[in-house]
Amino acid sequence: MGLQVNELNYQVDLLRAMNQKLKDKEHIYNLIFEQAMGTYLYISFGSPTVTTLGAFRTMFDFDINEVRDLEFILAATSKDDEQEIFTALYPERVGAESGECETFITEKKFRINIKSKVFYDNMHRPVEKVIVIRNITKIWTQNEELRDLAYYDELTGLYNRNYFIYQLSEMISRAEKTNGIISVMMLDIDGFSNINDGMGMIFGDELIQQCALFLKDLSERYNAHVCRLHTDVFLVAIENPDGNKNMGNLFADIKRRTQRPFVLSNGTEVQITMSAGIADYPEASQTAVDLINAAEIMVIKSKAKGISVASFYDYETGCEFQKKTELLAKLKEAVANKSFELYYQPQFVTGNGRLRGFEALIRWRDSNGRFISPAEFIPVAEDNGLIIAIGNWVIEEALSTLREWNDRYGADFVVSINISVFQLYRENFVANFLSLVDKYGVPAGQIELEITESIMIFDFNVVLEKLSALREYGIKISLDDFGTGYSALSYLKKFPLDTLKIDKTFIDTIVSESTTRVITESIINLAKALDFQTVAEGVEKQEQLDILHSLGCDFIQGYIWGRPEDKATTEKLIEERF
Ligand code: C2E
Ligand code: CA
Ligand code: CA
Repeated sequence: MGLQVNELNYQVDLLRAMNQKLKDKEHIYNLIFEQAMGTYLYISFGSPTVTTLGAFRTMFDFDINEVRDLEFILAATSKDDEQEIFTALYPERVGAESGECETFITEKKFRINIKSKVFYDNMHRPVEKVIVIRNITKIWTQNEELRDLAYYDELTGLYNRNYFIYQLSEMISRAEKTNGIISVMMLDIDGFSNINDGMGMIFGDELIQQCALFLKDLSERYNAHVCRLHTDVFLVAIENPDGNKNMGNLFADIKRRTQRPFVLSNGTEVQITMSAGIADYPEASQTAVDLINAAEIMVIKSKAKGISVASFYDYETGCEFQKKTELLAKLKEAVANKSFELYYQPQFVTGNGRLRGFEALIRWRDSNGRFISPAEFIPVAEDNGLIIAIGNWVIEEALSTLREWNDRYGADFVVSINISVFQLYRENFVANFLSLVDKYGVPAGQIELEITESIMIFDFNVVLEKLSALREYGIKISLDDFGTGYSALSYLKKFPLDTLKIDKTFIDTIVSESTTRVITESIINLAKALDFQTVAEGVEKQEQLDILHSLGCDFIQGYIWGRPEDKATTEKLIEERF
């Protein structure tokens, strides 16, 4: 009996100990699951009870004791995800081994993730099931912030460029399969920088916000996607435009709306107009980025025509654009590889044919050996800032060659270097240029810079200051292509110049047209009065030369006496002359 009692006591102790161990384990599990912000449900099929571990009650305001209580979870979570939640809670009912979904607990209190696994026996009957529910609210909100940053434009709440490109790419891949059409429009507020400068940035931003709001409403009516690209530029895309839902109508609606002013929070009424460029997939381009580029080209075209203009992509503009893009790509390569050459065209004293100097002219042969004219690639380089690198190369090449010629031939002639306005306008142009002159040890009086009247697009005082600084140092300044640009004779006297280059267009008709002869004569006389020397460009015929001589033009440059030649050929000419 004693033994029996002892035995029993022992058994009870053992059970207690085991129970305690289990409780300890449960405690540990609870701790772990609470830390993991989750809860753990264990179901053994055939038993109605559910074992829960972890912080179930921190998420839900009910308990789960029995299998049928799982339905409370369904009731407490977002109705939008009902189907997915059901499969995540009961994978065995759809014959699955596991399930997973993300959803909100009602009223968006928490974002949760439900994950489940069912263990089957070898007859494929479910035996046990584990459901893990994690509270992922924190990660979700963090991601949402990231998502907002990644998808949305901060100022307007519209989609941003990246997301728009993503959407557009998706549309394109759909259109590829279905032979669909996608219409993309770029919209730009006319003269926005003036409006912005006039009202201040805060109200400028408010105007953009109001435009965005209106465009958003409008695009909803057209099933269109809209984004803000930057500043005052928006993009709209319509997938498979039809009947009334097309860009033409959408732009007409924009025009209608912009006839009424926008009213800002301070009561100011602002009247705006917008210009647009429209390009369609697949006609204009097959990729999202190129489609946007094509639309941009059309906006530029619209702007050139005036205000409130929409231009639709056309084949010619597209070709022009494509040619430019291709040229730009090749040009970038050429700049990186410095695959340019400098040619030299001689200038002579009109009266006696003595050498005055050379104009340095850049030459570029692309990788196929095809010659591309500077008249074609210099403007492209100016559009893209590549002119700075190219211009620097020209300056170094010209100065180092001149130094070489001075050393070898004791040369004293002038080398003229063409300088783009964009180079000259750089803040440190003068200092950089002068330091190169020092570096190559070339007398300043042998260097001439050719600029064009287009520098007048910049602040005259800044131009004046720079040119004066260069001239003070002894460098000559020549005004190129004179007569083709602004041609305001009145400002000529304000320019610190040494030389005036009479444009080839005058020389072309100087023989056949007496008016040209008269104009050329007065240009030469004016130059003399202002103490400038004159160079006639593009002289090809003896009659032209004779007239220029009789009019008193100092120097001539042209095929008649010398074409632009490479360095080696030019050196032969120098050797003959010295
Ligand atoms: P530009 O400065 O007016 O150069 C004169 C152009 O007329 C050169 O064309 C020259 O080859 C051409 N030319 C000279 N004499 C005659 C002639 O008798 N008959 C004919 N038909 N043409 C003649 P090029 O070398 O093709 O240069 C075209 C333009 O490209 C230049 O016009 C200049 O604006 C620009 N350019 C050339 N090299 C440079 C450079 O190094 N830097 C910059 N920024 N622009 C350059
Ligand atoms: Ca020139
Ligand atoms: Ca010229």
